[in-house]
Amino acid sequence: MSGLLKYLDTSPQGDESSSSLIEEYQEKIADLERKVDYLEQIVEVSQILNSTLELDALLRTITQVATELTDTEACSILLYDKEANELRFMPATVSASAEKILEVPVPLDNSIAGWVFRKKKPILIRDAKNDSRWNSNVDETSDFDTRSILGVPLKIKREVIGVMEVLNKKGEYGFNQDDIQITTILAAQVAVAIENARLWDDIRKAYKELTELDRLKSEFVSIASHELKTPLSVILGYASFLRDQVSGEATEQLDMVLSSAMKLRSLIDDMVNLRHVHNDDIQLDVEIFSMRKLVEDVLAEFQNLIKAKLLKVKLQFDKGDDPVDIEGDRQKIRLVVANLLSNAIKFTSDGGGILLGLGREGQKIYLRVADTGIGIAEDQFDKIFEDFYQVEPSLTRRFEGLGLGLPIVKGMVETHNGSIMVESVLGKGSQFIVILPISVYL
Ligand code: ADP
Repeated sequence: MSGLLKYLDTSPQGDESSSSLIEEYQEKIADLERKVDYLEQIVEVSQILNSTLELDALLRTITQVATELTDTEACSILLYDKEANELRFMPATVSASAEKILEVPVPLDNSIAGWVFRKKKPILIRDAKNDSRWNSNVDETSDFDTRSILGVPLKIKREVIGVMEVLNKKGEYGFNQDDIQITTILAAQVAVAIENARLWDDIRKAYKELTELDRLKSEFVSIASHELKTPLSVILGYASFLRDQVSGEATEQLDMVLSSAMKLRSLIDDMVNLRHVHNDDIQLDVEIFSMRKLVEDVLAEFQNLIKAKLLKVKLQFDKGDDPVDIEGDRQKIRLVVANLLSNAIKFTSDGGGILLGLGREGQKIYLRVADTGIGIAEDQFDKIFEDFYQVEPSLTRRFEGLGLGLPIVKGMVETHNGSIMVESVLGKGSQFIVILPISVYL
């Protein structure tokens, strides 16, 4: 016989000392079993903690487990109220018969809970009423008769947010070291639960505010764009009329009026288009047209800008003379090509190069807009397709724009059942590749 068994041998031959050793080990085993039992219940609480955001239900479970494990009559949780600089009972931890104590504040001075809160450490009091810090208000209001108290602070990192107390240890021996340990572990769970609930509440509030802001923004955009469009058309109409009537210096000035009004119109169009992308209500006006002609037309629109920056533009049609006809909304695909080309021009310095490529593979068309410009860091590849996102913050940036071009491009491409990709090396250049089905109905 060896090891533990030797001591657990209960045969009559065992002498006095071996029987006392057996008792000692049996006690230790019972003690271990009790601890395993505690741990099992604490693990259960952690599991609930991970699976629920219902703070009230969770706190009820924790206080119940706390009273069971510490063999006490009650457990309460008090939270610090910053504004009033006092502690308050949490409703979930107060029984229906003692609801009146929710009205009773617990001061930080002259109270046991206040002492735990201030000192940030546990306290164990066997005879509460004879303690100099005893505050009788709560008992008087609730008809509860407090005898002994074990209080521990509720801590989130280093900050104490409240106090948890178990009251009136049953039996004759009073609180012990295990009780302190159990209550401290459960208090940590309570603190995490409260912190999670607070964070969750903050997120919910922020989300509500955001939703409201988003609604207001959409409403504003739709009203503003509608209200701006009419006077702008009048300005554009009269300015073009006058431009044809005058000569000399006035021509230049009217050209400036016209170009600024056109910029404004394109900003308004961007906002309207983006709203349609988000509302998923893009109406497609489908026709069959030549992609090659479209690319050439868009390029012609940008000739002045290209010349001004001395950019070298190369057109590359992979299928030679194949006109690459496509069935889709010409206006919307024009927006795609125009936005990508406009970015390529904007983000490439004078004298740089741009390549516009078009190819077809089976039922798919590839459009490539590449430049030798400033490039985009890889961690920005997804972000640049978000609304109003610009790699350089708008106040310090050197380039014009609202950060709406790419989200609109992506929206238009996707409504044509296509996709867009970006490849880029910072400082070397970027390339956007659009893949479109040859027909939007495919
Ligand atoms: P905008 O051009 O109005 O700023 P976009 O949505 O078209 O808005 O583009 C978002 C951002 O993506 C740009 O501000 C820029 O930082 C980056 N970007 C887009 N195209 C290019 C490009 N060809 N080269 C470098 N950066 C680009």
